[in-house]
Amino acid sequence: MIARDWFSEQQQDLWPGQAFSLKVIKFVHEEKSKYQNIKILETETYGTCLVLDGIIQCTTRDEFSYQEMISFIPLNSHPNPTKVLIVGGGDGGVAREVAKHPLVKEIHQVEIDKRVVELSKKYLPNMACGFYDPKLQLTIGDGLDYMRKHEKEFDVIITDSSDPIGPARSLFEENYYKLMSNALRPGGVVCSQGGSYWLEAGYVKDTINSCRKHFRSVAYAHTSVPSYPCGHIGFIIGCVDFTRDFKSPITNFSDKELDDMNVKYYSSSIHSAAFALPRWVEKCFK
Ligand code: SAM
Repeated sequence: MIARDWFSEQQQDLWPGQAFSLKVIKFVHEEKSKYQNIKILETETYGTCLVLDGIIQCTTRDEFSYQEMISFIPLNSHPNPTKVLIVGGGDGGVAREVAKHPLVKEIHQVEIDKRVVELSKKYLPNMACGFYDPKLQLTIGDGLDYMRKHEKEFDVIITDSSDPIGPARSLFEENYYKLMSNALRPGGVVCSQGGSYWLEAGYVKDTINSCRKHFRSVAYAHTSVPSYPCGHIGFIIGCVDFTRDFKSPITNFSDKELDDMNVKYYSSSIHSAAFALPRWVEKCFK
């Protein structure tokens, strides 16, 4: 039984038979936008929490693990990531991290739901600060449509999408990987939210295989985020036309550089470690 002051993340299609719950101090905001149900919660131990269609997107306590890893793994797997596209990312956290990278000159972001951006600016200022960076240009629109209209433009494409139900479903399909491969410049790198092997190893494998059809090098990295189901999330990373050993970052930041950028989770060693997989997962993803 879940009491009224607890939020319980129950998603029977994506993670049947389990639910992660957070004690809520205040139900701050709820609305139905054109695309999804949006909730903002103030929780007892995880800070402010953004929930879309019943699924936790981020909490102020642990968001940096996800935002730093999905940003710095691909950026440091490219020798000169000057022009970057972010798809989704309506809380602004990925834009905040990408903007810190000294080689990045231009950031374009396409987010489908302007209400997520507006509410994040109001209730999640520590993430939404990414939207105020002078390098960023935000477009409100669908990531798949946007990708169709851009060819050979970006060095890195980061897909910070919600889960593969609702408006984000198309961002996990093979056609999306094909369009991303066309939107990249030579040597371009993609990194997408790729789900957890603990929950959906078969689904993750299908997405990796979709990526393999259009990218020369493909790998899966992962990190821990306590407020995500199973406390775990993965990323699918690919280089379109070169063989790349993603485990070895091309750019290595010193401790001082990481401190100056206020980077709390990512380092060169955790970059490499993120690609180490349990034996059963290696076999499954082969
Ligand atoms: N880190 C989060 C996670 O893994 O659950 C994702 C956070 S971010 C809030 C996800 C964003 O993707 C949402 O703001 C959502 O509106 C956006 N989104 C979903 N489908 C999209 C699409 N087709 N095009 C662009 N943005 C999309």
